[in-house]
Amino acid sequence: MLERGRNVEHFKDYVTANTPSWDLPHRGQLPNRFTKENPQLCRAGVVTEGNRHFFVQDKEHPYIEEKPFTWVRGYQVGGKSLLWARWTQRWSDLDFGANAKEGAGVDWPVRYKDIAPWYAYVEKFAGISGNRDACHRCPTENFSRQWK
Ligand SMILES: Cc1cc2nc3c(=O)[nH]c(=O)nc-3n(C[C@H](O)[C@H](O)[C@H](O)COP(=O)(O)OP(=O)(O)OC[C@H]3O[C@@H](n4cnc5c(N)ncnc54)[C@H](O)[C@@H]3O)c2cc1C
Repeated sequence: MLERGRNVEHFKDYVTANTPSWDLPHRGQLPNRFTKENPQLCRAGVVTEGNRHFFVQDKEHPYIEEKPFTWVRGYQVGGKSLLWARWTQRWSDLDFGANAKEGAGVDWPVRYKDIAPWYAYVEKFAGISGNRDACHRCPTENFSRQWK
């Protein structure tokens, strides 16, 4: 595997994962100096005092922004997957049938029922969590941990 960033060891390197915000020097808020030095990164609204060590700072890898473009990067083994919120919806039959219905692009060769068992497998494997809303638009998820 080719990786430009540092190795991140599971658990050991999640140095703030179990630190409550009140135990951080700025109670979880980004210090003014950091926000001034990283205007592009900070406007994404996802960086906190507790996770900023997993983000590339503006000066480390500047980019020319001809049109508004917020680029959030994480250079480490695991990339930004270390930061994601485990929010992953299934596509529904509405999504799989949209191309055919609207005459756009190519019709999907599969429908929701074909993919549903694989969704269930991946959700368990990856530990996807969230609400089991089971609405028509978002089919029932097989979450390993549920919020309600
Ligand atoms: C705070 C946060 C919350 C999120 N929450 C969710 C969520 O709930 N649900 C969801 O679906 N998505 C979420 N996302 C988005 C999701 O995490 C990313 O879309 C996903 O991780 C991107 O995967 P990727 O492999 O394309 O890129 P990355 O995860 O960014 O991986 C790219 C990898 O390539 C490496 N790399 C870069 N340049 C080079 C080079 N020149 N040579 C070698 N290696 C290189 C990097 O170091 C990195 O390891 C979230 C993102 C953030 C930041």
